[in-house]
Amino acid sequence: MAIPERDIKVLSVPPMTRAESLYLPEVFKGMGTTLRHLFHAFGHGKGSRTMQYPEQRREDLAVVEGGMEKRNFRGFHRLNRDEQGRVKCVACMMCPTICPARCIHVQAGESPWDDREKYPVKFEIDELRCIFCGMCEEACPVDAIELTTEYDFVGRSRQEMVFDKEKLLHVYDVTINKKPM
Ligand code: SF4
Ligand code: SF4
Repeated sequence: MAIPERDIKVLSVPPMTRAESLYLPEVFKGMGTTLRHLFHAFGHGKGSRTMQYPEQRREDLAVVEGGMEKRNFRGFHRLNRDEQGRVKCVACMMCPTICPARCIHVQAGESPWDDREKYPVKFEIDELRCIFCGMCEEACPVDAIELTTEYDFVGRSRQEMVFDKEKLLHVYDVTINKKPM
């Protein structure tokens, strides 16, 4: 459908003044901003956004306000354990089904325990494909998969960033005391 003439607004670029056409005032203004940030960074002064990582780390990623956890960051996953230390996952396949990045792979097997039918023989998440949307966590009916606030795992190969069940349980072991449940 054509746009009526009355709805079309033609904008013209205002001509530059003599000072603006030299560009120098704007260049100095830009340099001033850069220097201001530089001095803040050197002085660690108020307003500095520079952190001396890895000596300094952001620990304010999970925020608790008024007794309620207000999470504003989603990092690497963990697989939670139950009270007996077993993997909580019951291999229901909800998380691989809902995952938009298709980066969760679960191989279900018959559970060796009486309180559930299935458990994950294999559980893998490709953390490089993951978009950290948190939908797996939302979908899990037994609270078995969770995104932590960990953000600085490194791997020397793509394969190292595919977290298997053991690694995901290890992430649980090292993060269980760091993040409110
Ligand atoms: S956070 Fe999102 S993309 Fe990542 S594994 Fe979970 S559902 Fe998939
Ligand atoms: S949704 Fe939960 S219980 Fe189901 S397969 Fe994923 S982690 Fe396991």
